[in-house]
Amino acid sequence: MKDFLSKLLLPELLQGMALTGGYLFRKKETVQYPEKRLEPQDRFRGMFGYSLERCIDCHLCAKACPIDIIYIRDHTEVEEVEGSDGKMKKKKTKVIDRYDIDVKRCMFCGLCEEACPTEPKSIWLTTLSYEGSTYERNEGLYFDKERLESWEGFKAFPGVPAPIDGQNPSDPLGEKLKAETPEEGAA
Ligand code: SF4
Ligand code: SF4
Repeated sequence: MKDFLSKLLLPELLQGMALTGGYLFRKKETVQYPEKRLEPQDRFRGMFGYSLERCIDCHLCAKACPIDIIYIRDHTEVEEVEGSDGKMKKKKTKVIDRYDIDVKRCMFCGLCEEACPTEPKSIWLTTLSYEGSTYERNEGLYFDKERLESWEGFKAFPGVPAPIDGQNPSDPLGEKLKAETPEEGAA
């Protein structure tokens, strides 16, 4: 008799429907992407930001990268300048010729950002931006210094400016940074 009633009323089916029905009244966790996007957490590591203006060419980021995907090349320019004593002196300036990141190989560990000594950071991943998909990964996900700053061909999270437009590494959606003199500070 118990088996007969069980087959007739299908309690498992009713249980399943009750469980499904319960979700109708819960808060939705999904959004209609790409019309809507969820804002990542502050600590989320996404696309790189880079500031050539702040970068002091110390190579610490490249040395910290465990898989060696940051490529820096530079040269030193020497010019004669007049010192305070009126004598001519040699002034050396380092010029960054190449600063590339092979982003397709990156594991987003953030060690490069951690190693960067400038304040604000010259390399950072807390950009809230993650829409970097491309049909061609070799060139599409290889960023030179110009692209790391301009984000040309990369879709930023809504409201986040490109690094060249003053993106703030500690608050990408906040007030933009003004151009300032590079300063070596606390990491
Ligand atoms: S986040 Fe990417 S580029 Fe930076 S240290 Fe890690 S693997 Fe290297
Ligand atoms: S660690 Fe920072 S300042 Fe040094 S080379 Fe890398 S990005 Fe530039």
